[in-house]
Amino acid sequence: MSVIRRCNLCLRRTAMTEDHLFPQGLAIPGQRRVTQILHQINPNYRGRQGTFLAQNGVKKATLCADCNNRVLGTELDPALISLYRAASAAMEHIRYPVAGGVIFEGVNLNRVARAVAGHLLALDDVPRATYRPDRRLRRFVLDRRSGLHPALRFHMWLYPFHKQGMFKDLNHFEFGAKFDPMWICAFKTYPLAFGFSTEVQNPTFRLPGSLDLTAHITADDEQLFHLRLMALPIVDSNWPFAPHPKGGIVTGMNSSITTEPYVRAKKSQARTAKDATCA
Ligand SMILES: [Zn+2]
Repeated sequence: MSVIRRCNLCLRRTAMTEDHLFPQGLAIPGQRRVTQILHQINPNYRGRQGTFLAQNGVKKATLCADCNNRVLGTELDPALISLYRAASAAMEHIRYPVAGGVIFEGVNLNRVARAVAGHLLALDDVPRATYRPDRRLRRFVLDRRSGLHPALRFHMWLYPFHKQGMFKDLNHFEFGAKFDPMWICAFKTYPLAFGFSTEVQNPTFRLPGSLDLTAHITADDEQLFHLRLMALPIVDSNWPFAPHPKGGIVTGMNSSITTEPYVRAKKSQARTAKDATCA
């Protein structure tokens, strides 16, 4: 029996189809293989436990058949799966220390990024028609000529870990730093991770090892790229699901945290702050 509700992606009210949060066809690493790679990278590596929302095999019924089968399944996922296959094959042969990084040829970055955005949107239990980051991601996925909204950034990094994770709407901040919180969401499954974020104002959140690919996400969904991803340093396995040691994360469906007065200000001041943020 299928549920009738609005689709997270196209917002049409129709029957939902059940699908895997991580598309089937992405490499599922063996524990042993991952451990070998981790020891090559850093013999002293001891994995820490992070917060992972989605695990392999989790299914959700948040997309309509058209978005599931045509938009993601037929148009976008093949580019993502092909990049994952290339990356997994590269990881099989990589030997550390490695010079020059890992090169992937013929990557359709536009479709890879749109596939990731589509799967992240499928994560929400309810569609959020007016939430600004979701509106921007939906448009990016559905309109192949729109390109990525200029307020958003697209990141990719090597992720040689066996835990899969997907998380939306984390707002990172550092105590005492005069930067806006950085909104970020991430899609992580061996051996690559991707993230969408707002502008990275705070240099603390510009992680060595993470590649900002925003400039290469053009509105041309046929364009192919050669990507060179440095194999070192490896980004922390918990990024961005754990806070900076001197910071924190606020989760929630809107970034209204900045509208809450830190101390009880006069009403007129509080309202000004809120209006400014919502503008
Ligand atoms: Zn749909």
